[in-house]
Amino acid sequence: MEHFTYAQGNLQAEDVSIATIAESVGTPFYCYSTATLVRHFRVFKEAFQDVPALICYALKANSNQAIIKTLAKEGAGADVVSEGEIRRALAAGIPANKIVFSGMGKTIQEITYALEVGILQFNIESESELEALSHIAQRKNKTAEIAIRVTPDVDGGTHAKITTGTKISKFGIDISQAPALYQKAASLPNIAVKSVSCHIGSQITALEPFQKAFSRVIDLVKDLRAAGHTIERLDLGGGLGIPYDGDQTPPTPAEYAAVVKNLTRNLGCTLMFEPGRLIVGNAGILVSRVISLKKTPAREFLVVDAGMNDLVRPTLYDAFHEIVPVKIPKADTRRTFDVVGPVCETGDVFARDRVLPVFETGDLIAFRSAGAYGASMSNTYNSRQLVPEVLVKGGEFSVIRERQTYEQLIAQDKLPNWL
Ligand SMILES: *Cc1c(COP(=O)(O)O)cnc(C)c1O
Repeated sequence: MEHFTYAQGNLQAEDVSIATIAESVGTPFYCYSTATLVRHFRVFKEAFQDVPALICYALKANSNQAIIKTLAKEGAGADVVSEGEIRRALAAGIPANKIVFSGMGKTIQEITYALEVGILQFNIESESELEALSHIAQRKNKTAEIAIRVTPDVDGGTHAKITTGTKISKFGIDISQAPALYQKAASLPNIAVKSVSCHIGSQITALEPFQKAFSRVIDLVKDLRAAGHTIERLDLGGGLGIPYDGDQTPPTPAEYAAVVKNLTRNLGCTLMFEPGRLIVGNAGILVSRVISLKKTPAREFLVVDAGMNDLVRPTLYDAFHEIVPVKIPKADTRRTFDVVGPVCETGDVFARDRVLPVFETGDLIAFRSAGAYGASMSNTYNSRQLVPEVLVKGGEFSVIRERQTYEQLIAQDKLPNWL
């Protein structure tokens, strides 16, 4: 079911007209659909309902409290990568014993905080991190349950900037070195070996990379058990892709689950997953207004009031976002445009050579599939205010983050006493 649809030519989120929200909060803004969000979580959860599984929503995809709380009520755990995300997860009602701490450079302070609140699992990224965790856990008189995040040397076939499972990636421990590090972990005080984890990348649109990576990780689980380790949980990360344009057909959660369940049958592990994009990506749009049309000898530009600071994915990952009108124009004329934002950067381009309706100044447009890595990656470059986020549920909508004011923007800076 799609919850961003047209009624009499007007784009709606569930039963609320996007134009109405735009009138109320101004543009640009993010708009999320509760029904879509909940549906995506349930589809994933139901795909694993016949096996023990914990679904830890990857907060970095979208860490608004209202989004996390909606998922918490559905029983989601959290995959976090910083103390800030642990705090956000707890504040939204996710219990500590459903939180897994991934993240490449956990600081002493972050580890200490995670131990104090009693999270479920630390996913270890390096030998020195393991040693630090053991030290801090001794001092705090706590036991840290760990997985080592292994790199199975599988290329997810995704964009280079979101590939994490290959030998040259900064993430994880090479799978060949994992047995020795597990041996060390088992010998360290206040460390409890419980799990193995991997996360090979994001926006993966085929099953083969998962199949290959998970087979290698499962072989490792068997080797570790043979060496006397207790492996009760298997954390298979996130990364399942979503369709950004109509032509893509990534595997469904059910197809993904079939592969996983086939591989893990009789393994006797609780499965853990860390989906982010899959849950929230298609549950959000970014709404923007056309500022001007500009024709140069070489191209025609559609200049909109959203910029790369609001949605950086096209700039950072060459990502494709479908661009649709909020009100379907009467005349069905189309031309080829470059869609650009107002930021003073050549890279502030949302789409090149896109065939679009001929919009006019003041028209509203929407970037689809902007729920993941949209608002959470936004910033104030060019002294642009952080944009509002709106959550729709049925016929209601609520502002879940206000537009930052200029006063707030400037008040973040502090003057030294000599000025
Ligand atoms: C980013 C990330 C995820 C979520 O990835 P998606 O592609 O959004 O599902 C999960 N686990 C880890 C460790 C991550 O870094």
